[in-house]
Amino acid sequence: MNSPTITPIDFSSAHIQQTIKLLKAAASDHQPTALATAFGAESVVLIHLIAELKLNISTFSLDTGRLPEQTYQVAAEIQQRYPITIDWYFPEAASIEQLNRERGPNSFRDSVENRQHCCSLRKVLPLQRALAGKRGWLSGQRHAHSAERANLLATSWDPNRQLTKILPLLTWTDDQVWEFIHTHNIPYNSLYDQGYSSIGCAPCSRATTAGEDSRAGRWWWEQQTNKECGIHADYFSGGSGI
Ligand code: SF4
Repeated sequence: MNSPTITPIDFSSAHIQQTIKLLKAAASDHQPTALATAFGAESVVLIHLIAELKLNISTFSLDTGRLPEQTYQVAAEIQQRYPITIDWYFPEAASIEQLNRERGPNSFRDSVENRQHCCSLRKVLPLQRALAGKRGWLSGQRHAHSAERANLLATSWDPNRQLTKILPLLTWTDDQVWEFIHTHNIPYNSLYDQGYSSIGCAPCSRATTAGEDSRAGRWWWEQQTNKECGIHADYFSGGSGI
């Protein structure tokens, strides 16, 4: 792979200044703190900033076992580009063996309960292990993702996990995210070039069309509008801002 052209970060931009302020506060006030990444557009921006600023923030990812090949591809490119260690967390093998034996490999399509059960085993429980002992948790959620996310706060207390959740890109627009990625030649998931706007597991993500919000491509067969997998869902039912 050719070495990418390194463009300096534009520290004069207000939205970048605000993000750096949040990242530095996370690194200084909420140790140990970690970035959760599924290698979406937001998290590759954050990985770039954390690496460039040499901040003491670790990075982890949840390998659900059902991720698209394109996600592994960009993960490999990110690991090659940046001097960071990505801590991978997997579901407990016995729980997935039991899930497939009792409900079938694609049971998530049969009911919301089955879908949430699959997300619980493949995402929520591994997330609990990833966040054990952490005092800060960084995520790439933004207001622009969906109507539900429009109410999120940049910093909030998660009473269930007893840690502070920080959303450093909360107010960034889609254009600002993509301008940053292209300016800094950051590797990104090629599914975005196929019309995807939110990328999770392969069987549960599809491309979106004009006018749909970015979360519409997740679990599109379900009717409810709040498309969260349990990882972030408690922020809509009990998370309090600080
Ligand atoms: S997104 Fe789909 S495949 Fe992935 S954990 Fe949730 S239900 Fe299972």
